[in-house]
Amino acid sequence: MRAEEPMRGTPDPEPTDRQDPATCPHQGFRADVAVNCLQDTGKFIADIRIRCVQCDEAFRFLGVPAGLRFDAPSVSIDEVELHAPIEPEGMKKLQTRALFQAPEQLKAN
Ligand SMILES: [Zn+2]
Repeated sequence: MRAEEPMRGTPDPEPTDRQDPATCPHQGFRADVAVNCLQDTGKFIADIRIRCVQCDEAFRFLGVPAGLRFDAPSVSIDEVELHAPIEPEGMKKLQTRALFQAPEQLKAN
C-alpha cells in the first residue's frame, strides 16, 4: 500500500523559468512524502524528499546514517531521501529528553 501526501503551496515554476542552482537563493521549497506500509511486517515508513521550487535542486539530509532501518531514521546513499520510521500515535507519550543545539554560525557570535 502506498499513499502520497497532496502537494501544497505555490506551483513549481516552468522549467524555462528555473534559476541556476549555483546562484539560486533557495527560498522556496517543495516536500514530497510517500508513506509506505509493509504488509508482511506491519511497519510504516515515510520517505521524504525536499527540493527548491526556484531551481529544482534537491536538498540533502545531514547527520543521518545511510541505509534502511525500521527503528531509526536513515537516508538514501545520496542523502536526498530521508526514511523515517513511523507508527500510529495511539496513546499520547512524551520523550523523556529533548536537545537543542544552535547552528555553528550563531555559536560564533
Ligand atoms: Zn534553489
